[in-house]
Amino acid sequence: MLDAGFTIAEKHQRRPFLKNNEKSTRYLRQVALPEIGRRGQQKLAQTKVLVVGLGGLGSPAALYLAGAGIGRLGLCDIDRVEESNLPRQVLYSHEDIDKPKVEAAKHRLTAYAPELETELFADGFTEAEPSDEILKNYDLILDCSDNQPCRYLINRRARTLGISVVYAAIHRFEGQVAVFNGRGGPCYNCLFPQKSNTAMVPDCAQAGVIGVLPGIIGCHQALEAIKIILELGESLEGRLLLFNALNLDVRKLKIPEEPLCEVCGTETKAESEQISKKSSGCGSISASELRRAIAGDESEIILLDVRQPEEYLLERIEGSVTLPLDELDDRIESLDKDKSYVLYCRSGARSRLACERLVSAGFQRVKNLTGGYLAWSAIEPV
Ligand SMILES: [Zn+2]
Repeated sequence: MLDAGFTIAEKHQRRPFLKNNEKSTRYLRQVALPEIGRRGQQKLAQTKVLVVGLGGLGSPAALYLAGAGIGRLGLCDIDRVEESNLPRQVLYSHEDIDKPKVEAAKHRLTAYAPELETELFADGFTEAEPSDEILKNYDLILDCSDNQPCRYLINRRARTLGISVVYAAIHRFEGQVAVFNGRGGPCYNCLFPQKSNTAMVPDCAQAGVIGVLPGIIGCHQALEAIKIILELGESLEGRLLLFNALNLDVRKLKIPEEPLCEVCGTETKAESEQISKKSSGCGSISASELRRAIAGDESEIILLDVRQPEEYLLERIEGSVTLPLDELDDRIESLDKDKSYVLYCRSGARSRLACERLVSAGFQRVKNLTGGYLAWSAIEPV
């Protein structure tokens, strides 16, 4: 079952789910599922979801949410419809070209689901828009945006207001989906820390995209939203789903909480350094000492990156090997105890835990990179 913190607060006035026609058969098939029933349908009708970004992800997500009988959709996008959007942005037709996306989307969605209420945000998602007052009315945000600055902003504002976010992104032939609980657990910034993330993932315009992939991933977002609202099954809370369109592999990875996360972290840098000094058994090495050691051809050093694979893929210390913290226990036997190891993560907190595990397993030559990749990249020659 879902975490209790995820229960959508019944803070809105109750509305009947079939306002105009109690005899409507519209939701018959959905209501027939015992896990949904009339009660579930009622709950969907009382729920407000803000869809940020009405492009390749937001189009299918908004359509399926409207189709499921969500009461109100906030539609947020600053752009106008372009011809090159049409292959994947299935909300729009040829005659919508040049129209503001929010208006074309409203037209299509309300024609499809006449009982749907909409609220339009044509200025996009900014620090001030929608205002906190308005944002607080929404039960859930779907992050269907196509750029990282917007994702960081959604993450930060949603976390401050305690609103959960269903996030998704696509890159070339891979899609990813995650759920960030507004009240706790890891956030988007824990997954992709803003400071170290200099190599931005390019958007569709730069990288290219095949329309069916955002279609699939946007549907995943709508499904996660419905599951959260109805408290069905297991949500992707705190986990990242990776979908590879070329071989149809699906992987789910646990997102570690970053104690030093600037958005949700509980530990200050000073506290972290304190703990680091207190930690027994494993030694530490500074970024500049490590650089000197590598330059001095201490080639017996094995650099282990204990972050998640997607962090490693974005950027890493050259020559390092990926060994995510959550796989360490299973793979510890494959490591040679006589070798010398330096472990690192983003800021040094996860790798400190990993070091302690190695030391207690009998490894003697283990060091933690103080300050992690952040410290390493800070002294990297330009
Ligand atoms: Zn965080």
